[in-house]
Amino acid sequence: MRSARAKKQVVGDRVQQARRRAIALVPPQPQAVAQGEVTAKIARYLADTPLNAPTLVIDLDVVEHAYLSLRRALPLTKIYYAIKANPAPEVIQRLAPLGCYFDTASQGEIDLCLSLGVAPDRIGYGNTIKKRSEIAHAFAKGVRLFAFDSQAELEKLAELAPGSQVFCRVLVDCAGADWPLSKKFGCTPRLAIELLTRARDLGLDPVGISFHVGSQQTDPSRWEPAIATAAEMSKTLAERGIEVRLLNIGGGFPSRYRTEVPALEAYGKAIMASMNRHFAGRMPEIIVEPGRQVVGDAGVIQAEVVLVSEKDIGDEKRWVYLDIGKFSGLAETIDEAIKYRIKTPHDGGPAGPVVLAGPSCDSVDTLYEKTDLKLPLALTAGDKVLILSTGAYTSAYSSVGFNGFPPLKTVCI
Ligand SMILES: *Cc1c(COP(=O)(O)O)cnc(C)c1O
Repeated sequence: MRSARAKKQVVGDRVQQARRRAIALVPPQPQAVAQGEVTAKIARYLADTPLNAPTLVIDLDVVEHAYLSLRRALPLTKIYYAIKANPAPEVIQRLAPLGCYFDTASQGEIDLCLSLGVAPDRIGYGNTIKKRSEIAHAFAKGVRLFAFDSQAELEKLAELAPGSQVFCRVLVDCAGADWPLSKKFGCTPRLAIELLTRARDLGLDPVGISFHVGSQQTDPSRWEPAIATAAEMSKTLAERGIEVRLLNIGGGFPSRYRTEVPALEAYGKAIMASMNRHFAGRMPEIIVEPGRQVVGDAGVIQAEVVLVSEKDIGDEKRWVYLDIGKFSGLAETIDEAIKYRIKTPHDGGPAGPVVLAGPSCDSVDTLYEKTDLKLPLALTAGDKVLILSTGAYTSAYSSVGFNGFPPLKTVCI
């Protein structure tokens, strides 16, 4: 075994090398930092800014870097940022000039994009569940790309968004995803074929097919069966004179939580290999809709320890209560699905097992109980903790003030 010092030296050399590489490449800073770590910019902001409520700090350079990394991994695709992951105007404003498109799910999200100067032809309406008034509003504003997954939705679109481009979402297996999307969206491929045929008869433009393999999808090979299904469908549709010109392969690209995730390049390679295998010679335009991958690793939440306690004399497992919980931004800890990494001022010292909980008077507001989580024994009320890779699905999920706790504040720097 290597001595600790030798090991430190090797790590030190690697950091040096990484730094040199980072300087040699173009954009500054974020590349010098491992995926999902606290950037120098965020560290400086937190050091200079006293914060007395939980706050999400987003490093916009990391957002840009994440977007450009995906563009490099999947250069033949059009990227639609799923703004539900983090609708901060600064994020949209950073992405728009880079050529990004936007996937929206409501009138509010469409209006937000338009108010920030995003042109309607850069906006897709990706929700398959829309009110008539919402469709009419989007159409009036110039949006011409809509998702659907049912006959009734198709009829609404034909009436209220005549002539628009529509794509049908199909159900796919979400195995391998930490945040699966179940059966709520999509229909079976055989129904989708009928609906796309009907779309043409209703005067709409049936451009293609979409699917989503589940959020925080940690297995790059999960796109393969879905792409194979889409290719089969497009053969049948071609026989009916409908050319699949667009394949929307959804989001699902990961952030860095407790376990390591494959590099984006692995996703790009696996997806393009599947596309070449199944769509050889008749490649449709490909859309991706990343949410989590664009913003997740760019954000850090600073929170505070409110109480550390035991439930019995001599209990080894402590309860640690933070001033942030399920209702104020950490909703993805439901079923302990997303396991965030946590930094404390005492890291490196002796640690012991804990249950981590939020501050509200609702027992659902327990974050990790089954998860094997250890925190330093020195941790005490008043300590600030950092919850890493929390840029996605946190501020947007925060309630307006359950139990009198303020919603999660976002600062973009
Ligand atoms: C939520 C959503 C996305 C983004 O998913 P991520 O897993 O965050 O990348 C993309 N497309 C649609 C239709 C969605 O509903």
